Parts: sequence; structure tokens; C-alpha cells
Amino acid sequence: MCGIVGYTGRANAAPILLDGLKKLEYRGYDSAGVAVINNKKLFVSKTAGRISALCEKTDNGENFPGFTGIGHTRWATHGNPTVENAHPHVSNDGKFSIVHNGIIENAEEIKTDFLSNDSFYSQTDTEVAVKLISKFYNNDVITAIKIACKEMTGTFAFGILCTDLPDKILATAQGSPLVAVKGETGCWIASDI
Ligand code: GLU
Repeated sequence: MCGIVGYTGRANAAPILLDGLKKLEYRGYDSAGVAVINNKKLFVSKTAGRISALCEKTDNGENFPGFTGIGHTRWATHGNPTVENAHPHVSNDGKFSIVHNGIIENAEEIKTDFLSNDSFYSQTDTEVAVKLISKFYNNDVITAIKIACKEMTGTFAFGILCTDLPDKILATAQGSPLVAVKGETGCWIASDI
């Protein structure tokens, strides 16, 4: 069971994401990562180790600025616990980033049917998901996610960032837990309340 967190609001996202990931540590994990949007660009930091390593890399999130972000603790199902396989994963054009809990059962079929011209940097089903969403993107993020999700079988909860919507977290779930909360200072998603 992995952990997903997401935040968008008035505060710097990375410290909130790291704090959230620590709260989800009890679920178990083998690697971790965060992504934020800053100036309409994605920035990703990942580790094949513990969340503490991620905290060190980013100075507890302080040197990783951006008001919108997603974070992940991974429990590998597709590929070893390496930095390349750690989430968040990113589309070729650098527009989309995704964290995923679950298993996309038909990832290999999707590669053959829709993504035969793409090259893949990881062994994960999740990289397939972000590239599929990116493939269906035509200036309407929600529609792209909906079409992509219809093609995927299995279980998933996704937290998604798109640089064209720099102050939004997009999220969807099928058979994996995900909560979404709107508060006075921001909005959150997480695998657990
Ligand atoms: N299937 C994905 C992977 O292996 C996500 C696993 C998880 O839920 O952490 O990367």
C-alpha cells in the first residue's frame, strides 16, 4: 500500500507534502518523491530510500518552492525500487506529472495499442498512465484524464499535475482509497484521512 498526498494553496507545498508523506509511512514503502509546479514548470525530487533522504535533498522542502504539488511513497509492483521507477512520473513534454497507488493491469497492451512510438525511462505501469493522459490531451485536462482512465483496467488512485493548470491538483480513483479536502488555506488529497 503506497501513499499519495497533494496540496495546492497559499503555503509552500513541499514542506506540507513531506509532512503528509511522513504521516503515511505506516503504510510501508520502498521509495518516495515529490513534484511541484513553479512558474508553470515541473520540478521533481525522488529517492530510492527513506523520506528523510528526500527531506535532506530539499532542505525539508524549503529549497523546493511552489504552491502546488504532489508526493508519493511507493510500494513497487512494476519494476525495482529505483530512483527511475519512483514516483512522481512525468510526460515527455514535461507538462504532466502523476503519482499512482495501485496496479494498471493492461499497461503492456496500452503501450502496444497507443504508445508504440514512445520510449520509456522506467519499468512502471504509472509512466504508461501519464503518457496516455498526455497523448489524449488537447487543451482539456479533465477530458484527457477521463478518456485515459476508460482505457485502463485494474485499480488506481491518481494525483496529477498539469503545468497548464498551475494552481490545481487533479485526482481520480478506481478501487484505491483517496480523500479530497477543501480548507480555508488550501486543498489536499491523500490516501488516508
Ligand atoms: N504500480 C505502481 C508502481 O509499481 C504503483 C505502486 C504503488 O501503489 O505504490 O510503481
